Amino acid sequence: MPFEGLAEKLSNSFKKLRSKGKLSESDVKEAMREVRLALLEADVNYKVAKELTGRITERAVGEEVMESLTPAQMVIKIVNEELTALMGGTGERLKSPAHPPAIILLCGLQGAGKTTHAAKLAYMLKSQGHRPLLAACDVYRPAAIKQLQVMGEKAGAPVFERGTQDPVETAKEAVKHAKDYGHDYLLIDTAGRLQIDEELMDELRRMKEAVNPTDILLTVDAMIGQESVNVAKTFDELLDITGVILTKLDGDTRGGAALSIKAVTGKPIKFAGSGEKLDGLEAFHPDRMASRILG
Ligand code: GDP
Repeated sequence: MPFEGLAEKLSNSFKKLRSKGKLSESDVKEAMREVRLALLEADVNYKVAKELTGRITERAVGEEVMESLTPAQMVIKIVNEELTALMGGTGERLKSPAHPPAIILLCGLQGAGKTTHAAKLAYMLKSQGHRPLLAACDVYRPAAIKQLQVMGEKAGAPVFERGTQDPVETAKEAVKHAKDYGHDYLLIDTAGRLQIDEELMDELRRMKEAVNPTDILLTVDAMIGQESVNVAKTFDELLDITGVILTKLDGDTRGGAALSIKAVTGKPIKFAGSGEKLDGLEAFHPDRMASRILG
């Protein structure tokens, strides 16, 4: 279960608060110290955890909260609101272009779940009545094109591929194909690497310039915690991404990535992925995630 450790620790801290009835400022401060430690153990970025608990304390020691009949309840409500705001508030969706197709460039490190989530996204869009086209632009991993074809077929979305030709050319041709055949979404699967390197970034930059994407979505693996936040920061600096697909939320993730990415990069998590099946993708809702963390 993801976030289990964090949820349990927060719940213990709040139980203590509830048992107190009326709260003093030091009760709140002690609880926030515990919350901060729990966040750090869940691999939340240090600065993010510190600023978050600072904001919560500031609001919670206000007169209105301390004088209320249920101060502990009020503190928990503030924690919920601040966690929601931290992850992006109301949540963000795909952008709409002035003219279709919407072009979505998917990027990320090898193994993060890019190809899987390109197909999941196609499946989701199809079920919403759209006509997505997938483009296979990961030409270095021999099995990647085949993998996308197999998953695309299951998702009911065609796959545009030109073998191992320059992927930037393939992307350009895919845009034309999408226009010619009335696809309103084009999802471009790109090459990954084990680490960020200049060659990969150069290719992604050229691709961005060539197709002018509506959205650049970075797939990041929730299981790698803080490291995923570093990856997101670097990709964003080099590519100016528009959002993140957080993958592998079915795994035993501690929560750090979900909680830190927006605060550190300024870019929202737009989708949350779990499992290897096509229906394992949903729009990311910060409020639901906060409630899940607060149990
Ligand atoms: P890519 O290299 O980024 O294109 O990654 P893939 O899409 O090939 O995924 C790498 C591996 O992770 C594959 O075995 C996928 O089946 C698996 N995978 C992808 N997304 C998820 C997920 O959300 N949860 C789980 N448990 N496995 C996933």
